[in-house]
Amino acid sequence: MTQIHGVGIGLGVAQGPVARMAAPLPAPTDEQSAIGAEAETVRAKEAVTAVARELEERGAQAGGAARDVLEAQAMMAEDPALESEVATRLAQGKTAEWAVADAFASFRDMLTAVGGYLGERAADLDDVAQRVIARLRGVPAPGVPDPGHPFVLVATDLAPADTALLNLDQVLALVTSEGGPTSHTAILAREKGIVAIVGAAGVAGLADDETVIVDAAAGVVISDPSDDELARAQHRADARAAAVSGPVTPGALSDGTAVPLLANLGNPDGAAEAVALGAEGVGLFRTEFLFLSSQNAPTVAQQRESYEKLLSAFRGKKVVVRALDAGADKPLAFLNDAHEENPALGLRGLRALRANEDILREQLTALAEADVAVAASGEAADLWVMAPMVATVEETTYFVELAREYGIRTAGVMVEVPAAALLADRVLQHADFASIGTNDLTQYTMAADRLLGSVASFQDPWHPAVLRLIQATGAGGRANGKPVGICGEAAADPLLAVVLVGLGATSLSMAPTALADVRQSLSSHSLDDARRIAEAALGADDAASARVAAQAAATVS
Ligand code: PEP
Ligand code: MG
Repeated sequence: MTQIHGVGIGLGVAQGPVARMAAPLPAPTDEQSAIGAEAETVRAKEAVTAVARELEERGAQAGGAARDVLEAQAMMAEDPALESEVATRLAQGKTAEWAVADAFASFRDMLTAVGGYLGERAADLDDVAQRVIARLRGVPAPGVPDPGHPFVLVATDLAPADTALLNLDQVLALVTSEGGPTSHTAILAREKGIVAIVGAAGVAGLADDETVIVDAAAGVVISDPSDDELARAQHRADARAAAVSGPVTPGALSDGTAVPLLANLGNPDGAAEAVALGAEGVGLFRTEFLFLSSQNAPTVAQQRESYEKLLSAFRGKKVVVRALDAGADKPLAFLNDAHEENPALGLRGLRALRANEDILREQLTALAEADVAVAASGEAADLWVMAPMVATVEETTYFVELAREYGIRTAGVMVEVPAAALLADRVLQHADFASIGTNDLTQYTMAADRLLGSVASFQDPWHPAVLRLIQATGAGGRANGKPVGICGEAAADPLLAVVLVGLGATSLSMAPTALADVRQSLSSHSLDDARRIAEAALGADDAASARVAAQAAATVS
């Protein structure tokens, strides 16, 4: 068994035989044929016909839009005008490879010159030509392979055109040696829910047909797996498939304790998908994402439009909007203009808003107006507003009082700074709720910049020091009868989600694609189990042993 590490996209796991994406073919050279024009013509015809039939078959299998595209390609391959272009070159004594390459290229140029629909299809001719030449040479066609059975696709990276036509019934998982979490492949995989790992440089050594396990949750490709590992992976894949295809129910533990599952959004356009995936509301709307490229502060009208769109997509549901969180990894030109040596510890979050109070006041105005406008046109959303990067009780009272001035009914704080977690019992005497941002809470607890690869191993929310702060915040919520949500990436880890509930979290918010996994994990444990699993994690010395201890405690649940 060998492990190849990369960046996992999502939490899925899959297994199957590898099929590698063939590299582009070297261009044929302009040579005279050694076998004569007649024999070359037979070769060319056979190859073109075979490729056209293969394209039609693939289209029929794929169905939908892909069938139309592939049938159009098959027709192009057999276009009589193109055939006569090939024949002209063959009559000059050229090889079939060169005649096909040259004729298809000139035909493509002609279509491009015509423009319109034909012009747009011209690039498809390159793909058809490559397939015909590959057949003539007896080598695999470049592009996505078609071994005739489901496979794990291994590639350097994928072109958008390749990914658009991926047959999701055949591709069990995607692994690329290049690309990062925001690469095209990663975005597509996330969108379509394909099990994927990107940036796994070691997969270059994998051979066709060897069986691998692709464990996106762990970010590893396991080559040469044991029977036991294969069985465990299959068990996880089955459980996940059942969860994803099962009914979308509200988040709850096995004893019926409700744990609302909410969505993290950065744009109201993501609302419909979040609802479809079962989001019971929004737990974190990152308003700064709307204005990252703005040089000037957004106007009240501009903001109101976005907030109205968001609130009307969640009528009757909770929507937690965060005031602009500018600074460090998300600088906003109109809020962070001074150079800082250490911006993560600088004037960010609520500190930056306080230094520009007019901007904060305008945001609260826009939110209050949007709330009223949505309520006037039907059922209202339940708007909650929170401040980012709150460190003190005094900052809490400042924000809550200001929000109340604008008629915001529910005003809370994010707990991202250890000081706020340690004083949560007092912070929550004033705030209506707290939402723990585990990304920043981990960064500040472990003194490890969340953007710095060299200290990435410290950035693990499983660390018992982070868990203790979450426990303190949960206790502060219970003591004051106030809700404590989680909205950092930690909430999207299915087992950690159970631990967080055991530590006192009352709701969990995450990227919508993570909802199904977390929903399923919660439903397998009672509140007593969750508390016991959390205790096991808290008792560990480090993040890795906390995870192992929680896993062991969870399997006896
Ligand atoms: C967090 O810090 O966990 C959080 C949710 O906020 P952001 O990731 O936007 O800083
Ligand atoms: Mg944060």
